[in-house]
Amino acid sequence: MKCPARKVSMSQNLSASHVRLLGPWRRRWQGIVTLTILFLPFGQINQVGLLRLNFSNLSIEFFGAVLRIEELYLLLIFSLTLILFFLLGTLVSGRVWCGWMCPQTTLGDLYEWLGRRLGLSLTNNRFTGKAWRRLLLHLITLALALLVGSNLLLYFLAPQTFFAQLFTGQLHPVALGTLLLIAAAVYFDLTWLRRAICRDFCPYGRFQTVLIERGTLSLSLPTAEKPRCIQCNSCVRACPMGIDIRQGDQIECINCGRCLDACRQVMAKRGEPGLIGYHFGSVGQSWRALLNFRTLLLAGLAIGLSLLLFVAIHTKSPATLKVSLSHQAASRQLANGDQLNFFNAWVNNRTTKEISCWIEAKDAQSRQNVQLKGQTHDISLKPGENRKLDFILISPANAGSWQVEFYLKNSTEILAQSQALITPNSD
Ligand code: SF4
Ligand code: SF4
Repeated sequence: MKCPARKVSMSQNLSASHVRLLGPWRRRWQGIVTLTILFLPFGQINQVGLLRLNFSNLSIEFFGAVLRIEELYLLLIFSLTLILFFLLGTLVSGRVWCGWMCPQTTLGDLYEWLGRRLGLSLTNNRFTGKAWRRLLLHLITLALALLVGSNLLLYFLAPQTFFAQLFTGQLHPVALGTLLLIAAAVYFDLTWLRRAICRDFCPYGRFQTVLIERGTLSLSLPTAEKPRCIQCNSCVRACPMGIDIRQGDQIECINCGRCLDACRQVMAKRGEPGLIGYHFGSVGQSWRALLNFRTLLLAGLAIGLSLLLFVAIHTKSPATLKVSLSHQAASRQLANGDQLNFFNAWVNNRTTKEISCWIEAKDAQSRQNVQLKGQTHDISLKPGENRKLDFILISPANAGSWQVEFYLKNSTEILAQSQALITPNSD
């Protein structure tokens, strides 16, 4: 005869072993984000980085496009787009960034995992155990901190430049100092602060209170489920931030879902579903809670700005040309009445390839070619190069005031254009 009590116990164990946990998904996601951050500086499109801020020529490399400081409007749209998407992400998913993607959380998790793998135990945010094990953990943490510092520098220096300079001892003192400073900060953060950064220092966490909406994704123990709580405190013990989700929304919660997993495991042993869950807005509203004015407005603005950025990047001219009368040489009259006008031109190659080009000028009204002398032909510009050129424009005698259009051309197209007003004896 079968024992009913044993049957219940077996079914409970079976359900406990089949409980669906978010932990493995969170760790996979953290892994993907970490690998992306680590390897993004190595990626290139048309020999241009995927994301890099170049101080040497004041430009940002962004997925194969180069945004220069002269193109301030592009940098502005780029920064605004990033900010809007970050705000939108927060409005929709609360602190999911903190719990599932933020490098600070990932490094904290990694540090604690390493400590446990080394057989140390974590008490009051400190690892205790044999001295050699603790020393080993410190050495690994130091290596990790140096890796983080180096990785961050790769967002400012191309990898080939960085590694060549590092291994030959030629890394600029500012770059080396920055690397060591970041490594020291990461080491101190991991060994002393970790979750305290998220709880007490991170401005993003504080900023959140202003952003979250009624529809924002959050973790909670719904009122209707409270009577089922067996007060086992597993959710509190699992929480890296040391909070009790049963007390309702708290600013320190990083939406990591550890309490949810802990509760599911406990309740599965009783053959019941967990009590804690992720909810958009109030329980039962689902994603429809996101259909509110603030979220839709922000989504519209973010999408609109990204489209604008895409169009602006793909329609910008490949070069620029600025022309003006020289302030160092006054125009001069020749014996035949023609006038020599001394000009300066500033040309800039905005592309990632070398450009061979020349400057031409036309009378804006008659469309006749205008005679130029000086540095107007066989101009070869390296990628991103800015160059000042000097040339002379010859005005016919008795030309009066006239408008001239200047063109920077290559064999296939007009790369850029500019214009100037020529007046008799102008200087
Ligand atoms: S309350 Fe839950 S989701 Fe929030 S930080 Fe603690 S364990 Fe993570
Ligand atoms: S883990 Fe679940 S059952 Fe246990 S105290 Fe927390 S909410 Fe209650």
